[in-house]
Amino acid sequence: MTLYGGIEAGGTKFVCAVGTGPDDIRAEIRFPTTLPAETFERAITFFAEQGKLDAIGIGSFGPIDPRPGSPDFGYITTTPKPGWAQTDFVGALQAHFDLPIGFDTDVNTAALGEGRWGAAQGLDTFLYLTIGTGIGGGAMVEGRLLHGVMHPEMGHVRLPHDWDADPFEGICPFHGDCLEGMASGPALESRWGVPAESLPADHPAWDLQSTYLAYALVNFITTLAPQRIILGGGVMHQEQLFPLIREKVQALLNAYLSVPEITQEIEAFIVPPALGDQAGIVGALALADVVAVQ
Ligand code: ADP
Ligand code: ZN
Repeated sequence: MTLYGGIEAGGTKFVCAVGTGPDDIRAEIRFPTTLPAETFERAITFFAEQGKLDAIGIGSFGPIDPRPGSPDFGYITTTPKPGWAQTDFVGALQAHFDLPIGFDTDVNTAALGEGRWGAAQGLDTFLYLTIGTGIGGGAMVEGRLLHGVMHPEMGHVRLPHDWDADPFEGICPFHGDCLEGMASGPALESRWGVPAESLPADHPAWDLQSTYLAYALVNFITTLAPQRIILGGGVMHQEQLFPLIREKVQALLNAYLSVPEITQEIEAFIVPPALGDQAGIVGALALADVVAVQ
């Protein structure tokens, strides 16, 4: 019987699971992301107890090198997370398991999971964005996860910024007021002085938040022509954001892209994840399946 291992490797916690999909998770463990050696050891011990695996899929925080054949393939590369820069993630697992190992970003694997079992079934070109501690985007383009010189870093797009209306400088250490610098959970907390989850639904924060997200989505829509955009992550638990974002995306596009998906059926075009907070871990299992059959 087929058995895959999946790792959703986040900057604060790791989730490891074995199974084959959302309806077949046979074991799961969560633990904090400490230093690499200790964190990998916990994952390896867990998988070693689960019987014979056919493949492992990893969806990781990054930046990473997901390009098979590259000297740095399988590495977490330039992350500012202490102790984790230039870490050979795939190599650490390969030292214990002689298996195919898939390695991609957390958001690309979440996109894979949503495509297989969730909100993007039947589509071949779509985006998955997370608006959480950071902002990241994964892209499925004509049936393949998008990689190029590395992987997309959609959280760092630059946005129009009306400094009179919004004097907040942004918190991205690299760019200041890029999308992540303005609209991630920590950016909201820095701007408004309270954690994002404690801002009431009618707070002006959400109108401004939807403006920045709409600008970003218009950039992604005009660049990649996705058939659907899935918006996940902790901040998107604020459900009132969805209608605001949809309305502003339509207004910004100004009827230029005259496809019914956007002009008439936008409720089905900009959507929450169907797999909820499971998207990442089941996406890692889907990635294991992809590398197992290669
Ligand atoms: P991570 O990005 O670390 O994987 P999350 O996607 O849960 O985890 O994002 C965490 C961020 O989301 C935090 O900045 C938190 O303040 C924010 N957040 C979590 N829940 C909510 C909520 N209900 N409303 C607004 N912001 C939230
Ligand atoms: Zn940035």
